[in-house]
Order: sequence, then structure tokens, then C-alpha cells
Amino acid sequence: MSDDFDVVVIGGGPAGYPAAIRAAQNGLSVACIDEWRNYDGSHAFGGTCLNAGCIPSKALLESTELVHRAQHEFKAHGIGVGTVSVDLAAMQKRKATIVRQSTQGILALFKGAGVTPLQGHGRLLPGLRVEFTARDGAVRALQAKNVILASGSQPMALRSAPFDGKRIVDSWGALEFDAVPGRLGVIGAGVIGLELGSVWRRLGAEVVILEALPDFLPMADGQVAKEALRHFKKLGLDIRLGARVTGASVTGDEVRVSYADAKGEQSITVDKLVVAIGRRPYTGGLLADGTGVTLDERGFIEVDDHCRTPAAHVWAVGDCVRGPMLAHKGKEEGVAVADAIAGLYAEVNYKVIPSVIYTAPEIAWVGLTEEQARSSGRACKVGSFPFSASGRARAMEAAAGFCKIVAAVDDDEILGVHVIGPMAGELIAEAVLAMEYSASSEDLQRTIHAHPTLSEALHEAALAADKRAIDCLNK
Ligand code: FAD
Ligand code: AMP
Repeated sequence: MSDDFDVVVIGGGPAGYPAAIRAAQNGLSVACIDEWRNYDGSHAFGGTCLNAGCIPSKALLESTELVHRAQHEFKAHGIGVGTVSVDLAAMQKRKATIVRQSTQGILALFKGAGVTPLQGHGRLLPGLRVEFTARDGAVRALQAKNVILASGSQPMALRSAPFDGKRIVDSWGALEFDAVPGRLGVIGAGVIGLELGSVWRRLGAEVVILEALPDFLPMADGQVAKEALRHFKKLGLDIRLGARVTGASVTGDEVRVSYADAKGEQSITVDKLVVAIGRRPYTGGLLADGTGVTLDERGFIEVDDHCRTPAAHVWAVGDCVRGPMLAHKGKEEGVAVADAIAGLYAEVNYKVIPSVIYTAPEIAWVGLTEEQARSSGRACKVGSFPFSASGRARAMEAAAGFCKIVAAVDDDEILGVHVIGPMAGELIAEAVLAMEYSASSEDLQRTIHAHPTLSEALHEAALAADKRAIDCLNK
């Protein structure tokens, strides 16, 4: 096998593997190196997202949402199921199967596209050389014309509550519990903390989420955050805001977690503690001296708007560079870089990256929040439509939440769209497309939406922005 490649990608997560596939589609010779190891020691492409993040979390969220619906919503449909039983081992097995199918799918995609998969560690050396250390320890020196770094991120640790892998775990550990903890503590009410808290709460755990910030979901639209907090409390999540964790100690089977809030020093005792305080870029062993690639003060690989590092022909994409740590952001960067290397048009529109929180109700948004739009100084108008006025949502027994659009008064440009409610993550795609094409709220108003569908809520919200909604009162 030749050790010369047009492109060597280091990292086979959702940023790296699409970069490799697109580069191969562009007629380039490509190798993708990945060192991910699962708990059982097996290697798998797909990175955090497929192995320990997006996919396994969504598998468990789906299963546990069904449990919750069977317990609490079926009755309204006139369906009685008696006592709902949960076989956690079967649920976890299903999740593992989905993960395996997804990660093995990457190998099939590589084969189809002609990408050379290399399982092991990659290290960038000066002169566009890459040292590859295979699983068996054998070392090969690859020569590349371009290198794409996609080494991802890892969970942030909290010095005062160090992981022990058993009682104090990270998000991956929290996806692998083999029994429902009676009492679960979660540090951090961010996306990951809320999703994991929801999973175990729905299975019966008492869940306390400790969040240092005084505001709930500060990155989301204020109205959405308020509505979400109400629903999460109803689910039974005990969310304590302004609660900064100061220590955690394991005694026997319990963890005592101390935190400081406005009232002073407090503590809770739990069976398991999940530390979900965010993620940081991972570049361990990635860069030899003299490569010319630089890291910023937070450890991100420094890149320009086109994901170019200061080293010629070395690019970096995904969680290891600035921007939101999201799989789809990394994917777009990876694909754009692969196109740029091939001399094709390539651009990532960072203004329209959707965010989704897969809780119930689901939350999704794109663009500016109402608060951000108003503080930008540009006059804006807002239209909202509650799912309680949607026939489809009511038929689904999922009428909580609303759809909200923020548009500019001067030229009617859509500035942001916010959805809390059923299938929010799917509904937001229409808003993303609209914003990608610089649509106005009138464009959405004039677009026919099938009836009865959830998407009508966005249509009506756009109409409401001009006080022309049909199916709800215009305020
Ligand atoms: P990673 O997925 O971290 O992949 C990097 C890969 O590179 C890894 O396999 C790593 O082993 C490998 N690697 C690193 N260094 C080297 C080296 N030197 N040599 C060889 N290999 C190396 N995002 C979403 O968009 N939607 C979600 O629903 C979502 N849910 C999440 C849920 C959880 C619980 C978590 C933890 C994350 C979630 N994320 C979600 C975030 C998402 O997983 C990340 O944004 C995404 O995985 C980043 O992709 P990446 O390719 O940059 O990095
Ligand atoms: P995210 O970055 O979205 O994953 O969210 C992580 C959350 O953890 C943020 O909202 C942080 O404010 C919160 N956090 C960080 N450190 C602590 C701490 N010591 N105690 C409680 N919450 C914390």
C-alpha cells in the first residue's frame, strides 16, 4: 500500500469522516486515521457522536420517552397498558446495536468511496508528514499533500468532583448505566445535562441538576427557556440554578455533593453523579514540534474562517476548532475543506447553524433570539403560534410549546426562529433553509404548508409576525 496520499484526515468523527468521503468523491487519494476505543476495547469510527454522544443519547431518549408516554399519555388516547415494565438491559442492547450499525456503516461508506481507513493514532509532523501508529504498535510514516485535523473534544473535568468512572462519571458513563440510579446528580444544566437528566428521570431516578449560572438555558430565546423550565420541572427534574458545585466525595455507594448558592453552602447525596459542565478541544499527541499549527489559550486549534491553520495545507475542523460543538457544524466544515482542497466552491454559513435539545418538549432554534435581535438595535417584529392551536399537535397529544419567528421590520428578513414542542428538531430545518436563502417572513407566509401538520405552526408564526395569523388570535 502506498503511504502517499492527497489528503490525510486525523480523526474519524462527524467532522473527519465526511471530510474523507468528500475528498475521495473529489477524486483525491485519502486516508482517515482514527483511534477511538470503546469500553470493551474495540475500535470504531464515528468519534464521540456515533459512539458516545448524539446517537446513543438519542436512542435512550427515544426509548425512555416511549416509557414516559406509555405511563402518562396513552391513557388520554384511551389505551391502557397496565404497569409499564422496563428491561434496561434490552434498552441498552438496542442502543448498542444502533451505535454498531452506525459506526460499521462508516467503514462501508469508506469502502464505497475509496477511503483508506487506518485505525490507530495519527500525529502531524513537519512537512505534511503524518506518523501513524497502528493498533499493534507498528509505525508508518505517511506523506500527504493536505492534512485535515479533526481530533474532536473531550468532557471537561471538574477538579472538585473528579471522575472515578463508577460513581462520578462523564456523559459517556451516564449512557452506560446498567441500573437506574435511585438518586442522580447532574452538574450542569446545559444540553447534555438536560438530555441525560431526562433519560434517567423518565426511568424513575430522582434527578437533581445543579447549575452554576443564575439563568436557565441562557443561549436560548428567553421565552423558550422559560417554557422549557416549566416543563422540565413538571417532568420532575429538580433544577437548582445559581448552584456552583464545590466538592464531591464518594463514601461507599454514595456521593455527597456540596454546592454554594445564594443561601450558602448546601449538599445533596446521590447514588451517581454526572459531570456535564461542557467539553474542551482534544489535541493530545496530535502535533509534533515544528508543524506550524497553533492552539489558542483554550486549546482550540487556531484556524481562519475557511478552517485553514497557519501551516500551509493543514486544515482543522469540528470540535477542535472555534464555534459551536455540534456534529453538523463539524460535518459542514469537513465537507467544505474537502471541496476547497479540490479547488471547488466551499463555504460554511455560520449564521444559520441550528441548535437542538432533544428533550420533551424538544427545543430547536436558528439565528438570533428575540433578545439578541432587539439588542442589535435593528427594529424587529415577533410572531408566535402555540402548538395548542395546532390540530396535528393536539391529535398527537403533544400540544405543549410554541413556534416563534423574529423578523426585521425594515426588510422583513427572518432573523431567528425558535421552536419548543413536538419534533422541533425536524421543524427547524424549514427555518434553516429559509434563512439560508435569505427568505423574508412573507416568503414563509406565502408558502403552502400541508394540513394538518406541525409545520403549519411555523407558517402561522410567520403570519403572526404581521398580525395576520388565521388559527390563533393576533396579539
Ligand atoms: P469527535 O466526534 O470527538 O471525533 C474525533 C475523533 O478523532 C475521535 O474518534 C477521536 O478518537 C479521534 N482522534 C483524536 N485525536 C486523534 C489522533 N491523534 N489520532 C487518531 N484519532 C484521533 N452534537 C450534535 O450536533 N447533536 C447532538 O444531538 C449531540 N449530542 C451529544 C450528546 C452527547 C452525550 C455528547 C457528549 C455530545 C453530543 N453532541 C451532539 C456533540 C457531538 O458529539 C460533537 O460535536 C461531535 O462529535 C464533534 O465531532 P468531531 O468529529 O469534531 O469530534
Ligand atoms: P454546556 O456547556 O452547554 O455543556 O453546559 C455546561 C453547564 O455547566 C454550563 O451551563 C455551566 O454554567 C455549568 N457549570 C460549569 N461548572 C459548574 C459547577 N462547578 N457547578 C455547577 N454548574 C457548572
